[in-house]
Amino acid sequence: MLFNVVIAALTVAFPKEGARLPAVDSCYVIGAAPEAAGGAISVQGKSVSVYRTGAWSAFVPVVEGSNTISVVCGAETNLVGFSVAAKPKKTAAGAEEASAKSARREKLPYAAPSFQGRPIGKAPFEIVIALDPGHGGKDTGALSPHGFPEKDANLRTARETKKALEKLGYNVVMTRDDDTFVELYDRPKAAHSSRYDAFVSIHHNAPPVDRDPALVRYGSVYVWDGADQLLARAVADALAKEFDGELPSKGVLSANFAVTRSTQVPSCLVEVDFITSPQGEEAVWNAVRRRRTGKAIARGIDAWVKGAVSAPAGNISKNKEKQQK
Ligand SMILES: [Zn+2]
Repeated sequence: MLFNVVIAALTVAFPKEGARLPAVDSCYVIGAAPEAAGGAISVQGKSVSVYRTGAWSAFVPVVEGSNTISVVCGAETNLVGFSVAAKPKKTAAGAEEASAKSARREKLPYAAPSFQGRPIGKAPFEIVIALDPGHGGKDTGALSPHGFPEKDANLRTARETKKALEKLGYNVVMTRDDDTFVELYDRPKAAHSSRYDAFVSIHHNAPPVDRDPALVRYGSVYVWDGADQLLARAVADALAKEFDGELPSKGVLSANFAVTRSTQVPSCLVEVDFITSPQGEEAVWNAVRRRRTGKAIARGIDAWVKGAVSAPAGNISKNKEKQQK
């Protein structure tokens, strides 16, 4: 038994009953089959193979308004009802609203009078690294096929990163070290007011609802265009090297996140893996793998501090799928 949990009944982790999805033509469906079931399940009448952990994923067409997806496993049938929003009509008012929204996003949450780069001339014991395990408490983040919440994976990986950094001599402050809810804009506060040397947010990814989760799996590190890029580069390089041949890396991507929009404290957001794919879920919930992730992130931060990372070549690519966090 891989996850120390016995799934007694067929589970559908996404979409949840009563969910309201954005205006899409298709959506992903993920879940777990009971251990006794074995073999295959069917989603909307189409057979889907079950991964060895019991996880499965499917990708189905949906319609505007109410939808019901049927998942059949042996004698058991699960019906999940959810709704899909109507496609927005393209109007002048709509375009205006969209541009106002993007202008709001451009606003920095903190005054940024000076640019802070890597801490030159400081020894590790003089350096403070803030680690930010994403989500927590009522905010679960994404769910894996078995329904394991991203917030747990983020915390466990952050603890491994902390351990590895402390071994290298660094001071580490966590934005949360238990299952509590922390407001998004509160997360970088201490790092800014106390002028910590770096801020690294740790997350696990999920695709947009209209992407097939079986086809989306990679690691990436997000940074804001206007801030220090080298920290993100160093962390992305270390992770890509560690998981070369195991997990594709998209390297450094650009995103305007509340936790990365800083020019005062070098910041980045790591998306370790996709927890929505059966293989990704298995990797994320493997303790050895989490330790490797934590050590690699720590190695990346250490390389950045020591100046052992070169400037990125050309512009970093924009990621249109994720603009807010
Ligand atoms: Zn997240």
